Formats: sequence, C-alpha cells, structure tokens
Amino acid sequence: MGLLCAFSVAAELRQSWLGGGSQVTLGALENLEKKINEDPENQSVLAQAEAKVGAHSMNEFSKVITICGKDVPESVQGLTSSQRTSYPIFRSDDSIMEGKTPEESYRAEIEKFKSDEGAVSAREVITPGYAFVAVQNGLSICLRQDLTFDDAVLTLIHELTHFVQLDPTNEADILSFKDENEYLMNRVLVPGGEVDAFMTQFRAQIRQEKSRSNIPRKIKDSFNDQGAFLGTREAVAQFVLLSEYQGGMGYANHSYRGEYAGQLKQTYLSEVTLRNEFASAINLGNSNLAIFVGNQGIYRHNLSVYQSWIDQGVKKKNADLEAKGRKNLAKAQNQIEVIEAYLPVKREILAGYKQELVRRDVRIKAFETKLGILREAPIEERQDESQNEPPNDLGEDPTVD
Ligand SMILES: [Zn+2]
Repeated sequence: MGLLCAFSVAAELRQSWLGGGSQVTLGALENLEKKINEDPENQSVLAQAEAKVGAHSMNEFSKVITICGKDVPESVQGLTSSQRTSYPIFRSDDSIMEGKTPEESYRAEIEKFKSDEGAVSAREVITPGYAFVAVQNGLSICLRQDLTFDDAVLTLIHELTHFVQLDPTNEADILSFKDENEYLMNRVLVPGGEVDAFMTQFRAQIRQEKSRSNIPRKIKDSFNDQGAFLGTREAVAQFVLLSEYQGGMGYANHSYRGEYAGQLKQTYLSEVTLRNEFASAINLGNSNLAIFVGNQGIYRHNLSVYQSWIDQGVKKKNADLEAKGRKNLAKAQNQIEVIEAYLPVKREILAGYKQELVRRDVRIKAFETKLGILREAPIEERQDESQNEPPNDLGEDPTVD
C-alpha cells in the first residue's frame, strides 16, 4: 500500500488530464478526443465506441465516462463496466389460440425488455414454447483522476477496446471450462478481452512514442517499432495473467482472483432460478390444459342444448329461439375448434418444458459437483506479491455479469 500511495503523490507532480480537477469536464474529454483523432486507428476505435451507444459527439459520449470511485483499487487506471441481464418469456395461451407464430408471440415483449433495459447489444433464442433474451447494458468507463494526459489517452484507448468489443451476452458456458486456468485463459482471450485491449494500447503507445522503449520487457518483442503485432495472442494472455515477478500484469493474482469460483456460484444460482421457472410453467401449463379440456367438454355438451333450441324454435315456429340456438351453436363450435387447435400445441410446448427441466437438472448437478470440488479443495492460495511491487497495469476489465 505504501508504494501505491507514493505512486499517487508522484502522479500529482505531473499535470493530470483533468488539470488537477476531480470532475470529468467536456473540455478535458475533447482534449483526449483531439489527441485520439490524430491517429486514424485510435480514431476508428473511438468512432465505433460512440456508435455502439448511439452517441454522435463527445458531448453525448461523455455521459458514459466517469472518474473511478474510491471502490476502484488504486492500481487500476481505468475500468470498463457492463452487465448482462437475461429474461425468459413463456408462450402465452392467448398467443397460441390467436394462431400467432412463436416470433409474433414474443416480439413485443422482447423489444420492450430491450428498451426498458437500455440494451446496447442483445441475443435472442426463440423456441415454440419460450424465448430467452439476454442484453448487454450499463456500459460505462471510468478513468482515474490523477492520470497524466498521455496515460489517459492510452488508458482510454484500452478501455474503448473493451467497450467496443466485449459482449457479455456472448459469454462461453462456464461449465465448459476444465478448471480455473482454462477459464482465465478464455477470459483474457475473448474478443475485446485483456489481450485485445493491451495489444491495442501498446500498439497505440508505440505509434505515439515512436518507440518500444516503454513497453514492458516481457512483451516488447511481440511488436515492431511501427507498432505492428508480431507475437501470438497466447503469449499476450500469459503476460496479462502472470505475476509481476514473472514480468506480467498479474491479473490472475489481482483482478481475477476468486472470480472463477464467484462466477460458478452466481451462474449456478441463476440456473436454479431458471429451473424453478420452468417447473412453475409446467405446473401452470398442466392446470390450464386441464381447464381447457374441461371447457371443451362443456362446449360439446352445450352443442346439444343449442341444437334443441333450434329444433324447438323450428317446431314452435319461434324464430327468435331458433336464431339464438344457431348463434350459440356456431359460437360453441368455434370455441371447440380453437381448443382443438390449442391442445396439441400446448402439449408439445409442455413436453419441451419438461425436456428443458431435465437439461437444467443435469446442469445443476454439474454445477454442484464443480462447486463441491471447490469446497473440498479450495483454489490454491496464491502468493500475493503486490506488497512488494505495485501492479503495473493500465486498466483492467471487470465485466459485471
Ligand atoms: Zn482492460
């Protein structure tokens, strides 16, 4: 901690990108924008980030940029945050009886969810019985207030790379990873993960400084003097995850420490919630099915009642009674047809829910096994080397799921 404080004091001696202030100002952001736009590659990253949130100017884009709060570790220069929110929609009986297609049944609700949640990207799954929609929202960047102007430019480029490419709606299934190491490798290698962010940042830095001299030794040879990347993504991934002592950024020890176990647990809990929603949908569906089967019996019985009205009307030359009988008969026949069309669709949908329930139960078991293993053999305590050397990372990325 002592060294981190010294780092802050040293930073104050230099002019910060906010000119010593503690608020994001449009002027400060426009200065960064001007510098970024001097380099076509950086300019393109900023333009894509603005487009992602529908901003047409730095003034509009400034809404997603804040100063990092006290909860953000001092070693972190910038942070990109975003959330994934998902929502299951079960097919309504009305939509089946109105003869809507699955797509027509869910569309309005999906669009409402996306707009209510302020989605910047979305993924949908549509099946005959249910739809899932997952959205990315809450996308924002924070920058430390004490960064120098040049560091703020590079940190912003790093964070904008996450901002543009990271898509938590497209995350890999956490159950597919063998262990924490495999999870962490994937975590940094995904499009817009730390590998892309650091590559973009270092390439920008080499172009800006016209030199590789300030690039960390471990990764320097992955670039040439023009900033072209010559290395492998896996080598950058190792560099990001390795401890500082081994010349890396130490993400496995710091930012990502405990994340695998936390994500496993969180995903497990949402899996259980979803499983229970399918169980309720099955219960509700079964009782609705019984009601409609009952109604069908009543309508069938009524057919003979209405037929007798018609017969009596004809016999007694009572035109009113006959007309009433015909009207009700037609109505009841129509209801019977609607229910006849509904029943097989509903039965198929319920069969689909039951399959989904089985699939969820298998997944829940798999989560419990993995979490059980973690409980029995907790993730090996990693040696925390941060006391000796301040982490040298320019930005990090916590996709809050
Ligand atoms: Zn990052």
